[in-house]
Amino acid sequence: MLHTSRLEISTAAYQKNITFIRSLIGPKPTISAVVKGNAYGHGIAQLVSIAEKTGIRHFSTFSSDEAREVFASARDTSEIMIMGMLHLAELADLIKKGIQFYAFDLQRLEAASNISKELGIKAQVHIEVETGFNRTGFEWEERKTVLEMLRQNVPFLELKGLCTHFAGAESAQNHSRIQEQIRRFEDFSEYFRRNGIAFERRHAACSAATLLFPETRLDLVRIGIAGYGFWPTRETFEMVKAELSVENPNPLRRLLTWKTEVMSFKKIKSGSFVGYGKGFKASKDMSLAIIPVGYAHGYGRNLSNIGKVLISGEFCPVIGMVNMNAIAVDISKLSGITLGEEVVLIGNQGDNEITVASFAETSDLINYEMLTRLPSQIPRIIVD
Ligand SMILES: *Cc1c(COP(=O)(O)O)cnc(C)c1O
Repeated sequence: MLHTSRLEISTAAYQKNITFIRSLIGPKPTISAVVKGNAYGHGIAQLVSIAEKTGIRHFSTFSSDEAREVFASARDTSEIMIMGMLHLAELADLIKKGIQFYAFDLQRLEAASNISKELGIKAQVHIEVETGFNRTGFEWEERKTVLEMLRQNVPFLELKGLCTHFAGAESAQNHSRIQEQIRRFEDFSEYFRRNGIAFERRHAACSAATLLFPETRLDLVRIGIAGYGFWPTRETFEMVKAELSVENPNPLRRLLTWKTEVMSFKKIKSGSFVGYGKGFKASKDMSLAIIPVGYAHGYGRNLSNIGKVLISGEFCPVIGMVNMNAIAVDISKLSGITLGEEVVLIGNQGDNEITVASFAETSDLINYEMLTRLPSQIPRIIVD
């Protein structure tokens, strides 16, 4: 089947991002590539393939369905970790496949222990503790119960990790909250250590924490957004930039380029309306190109009369409303454009660039949301 647009995913950009993160954290911590949300829109299979070429052997997902996608494309030697949702009915299968998962409540921990016992295969669990994010994780008050359950089930469990998640490490304003979370995490660590329970790795840091708080890197860092070449927030960039060399002012590279082609042309007379309703009225004679991408493809309606695309290396503004499957753009200042001519929605063409950030700002979304809204049906193509 032919699609109306495609996403190119750059191997070199990913390698550059990982090299930069590695240069910050040193050789010791494992880098886990976070591939939830269809690898932040990049495609799980594609990202796994690129990451493994870069030497990554650890992948984190939110849910079991994503973990299965990683399992289907990753090498046997790569570790897979579910940080969120799974159904207890799937535990036996996940344990047999050697897929690791968080335990943040007693039901899951108990079920995993029982099934491991029955199967004679150790469940590989990460004990998540609550330090202040207040989403998932065992409470400090539950520590004795957890300790008892771990002690009873030591022969049936492989304790792969002790972990937590930070609340808003991307903003300096949360600095004291992060410090408090680190302190609570150390309390949990100390408690289990004193009581003879050892974990293979301790981990807590997402991209922002990895970049801004060296003390959070521990044994493993869970890298999502930075791996895809985006700063968690502008503020994170400003804070990291202060420590970077002048020659390398932005060490992160976007992996993603979104391309399509000109589907048709239209000449309109001054005074006519374009598209549905009265969203745009031409104040002069215009030449339009019709582009086969609309909100059904993740090109938001809020880019109506606001978005821009690149054709022939030039910015061409979106005219009128974004339709379900198409947009019209103004090419009046261009000449010699042919049917099928390349159109860039995100990325570089000639000397100009449309960044996800500009796209996201004009459409009032942050990078994370814009990326994950790119429909999974759009083909993802790995490029060098
Ligand atoms: C999404 C997520 C990450 C990665 O976050 P980024 O900000 O994209 O690096 C790490 N840990 C957990 C638990 C997550 O849910």
